[in-house]
Amino acid sequence: MQYIFGPLPSRRLGLSLGISPIPRKTCNYSCIYCQLGRTDHLTNKRELFFPVNVIIEELETTLAAKPAFDAATIVGEGEPTLYLGLGDLIEEVKARVDKPVAVITNGALVYLPEVRADLSKADIVLLSMDAYDQGSFQKINRPHGKIKFIDIYEGLKIFSEQYQGQLWLEIMLMNDNVDEESLGKYAQMLRELKYQKLYLNTPVRPPAEPDINPLEHEKMQKAVSILGGVSIDLIHSQGFHSEITDHYAAILSIIKRHPMNQFEIESFLKKRGCEDIEKIMDRLKQDRAVSELEYMGYLTYRLR
Ligand code: SF4
Repeated sequence: MQYIFGPLPSRRLGLSLGISPIPRKTCNYSCIYCQLGRTDHLTNKRELFFPVNVIIEELETTLAAKPAFDAATIVGEGEPTLYLGLGDLIEEVKARVDKPVAVITNGALVYLPEVRADLSKADIVLLSMDAYDQGSFQKINRPHGKIKFIDIYEGLKIFSEQYQGQLWLEIMLMNDNVDEESLGKYAQMLRELKYQKLYLNTPVRPPAEPDINPLEHEKMQKAVSILGGVSIDLIHSQGFHSEITDHYAAILSIIKRHPMNQFEIESFLKKRGCEDIEKIMDRLKQDRAVSELEYMGYLTYRLR
C-alpha cells in the first residue's frame, strides 16, 4: 500500500485509518521537534502529487477487507494541505466511509481561502499552533521562506469563525516555549479563536534536533492550568495493529509512518503470537533502512 496505512492507534482519534496524499517528508516546515527528522523537501507549492482516483482505489481495496477503525485521517509524512486535490479527496473519502474524516495539518496554508475551503469539508481538523509570533515561528517551525506567522494567525481566526466541523488545536510545548511570557501569548491567541478542543503535547519520540527535550510533568501541569485543554500524555492510545501477516514487514509498514519504541514493538509482536521477538529486534538493529535512536532512556525505531 502506498497511500493507505494502519489502522494505527491515535491518542486523539482512537484507531485511525491513515491516508497519505504527499511524498514522504514533503513539508512547508522543518520543525525542531519533528519525529520524521529534518524535512527533505521544503516547499510551499501545492501540487497534485498523485491522482485522487489512484488514492481512492487503494482505499477501496483496504475497505473491502472491512478493517475496524474510528476515523479516516488524511495525514502526510509532511503537510497534507500541500496536496492540491485535498478538497476532492476529502469528498471521495467521505462518500466511502461512515466514520469521521479528519485532517491533521500544521495550519501553515490556512491563510489561503482555497485551503480553508478544502479543510472545511472535513469533519475534524487537527491543527498545530506552536508559535505565538514570527520569532517563535522561525525558531520552532523553521518555515519555508514565504510564510509569515501573522498571515497564518489571521487565516486561522477566519477559519475558526467559519468552520462548521470540529476544530482541535494542538500546541507542542518544549522547555523554551513554556515560560510565563510564552504561555501568556498563547492564552491571548486562544481567546481570539473558536475551537472545540485543545491538546498540549510535548516531544515523546526522537525529535529532528537532538537538544530538544520533552517537558517535565510539573511544567505541563502549569501550562494546562493557564491554557486549559488536555495534556496529551494523559491520554492512552490503543495498541498497534497491522493486517500484514509477516511480522517484520508489518513493523516496517508501521515505522515508515509512525516511529515505535522497543516496548511498543515487543508488545505488538507478543499480541500477534510471535515467537522470535529477539530475532526480529536484532534484524531491526542491523537493517540499514532503519534508524535506531536513543531518546528518553529507550530505543526508538523509524525508517530512514
Ligand atoms: S512536525 Fe509536521 S509540520 Fe513539522 S516538519 Fe514534521 S511533518 Fe512538517
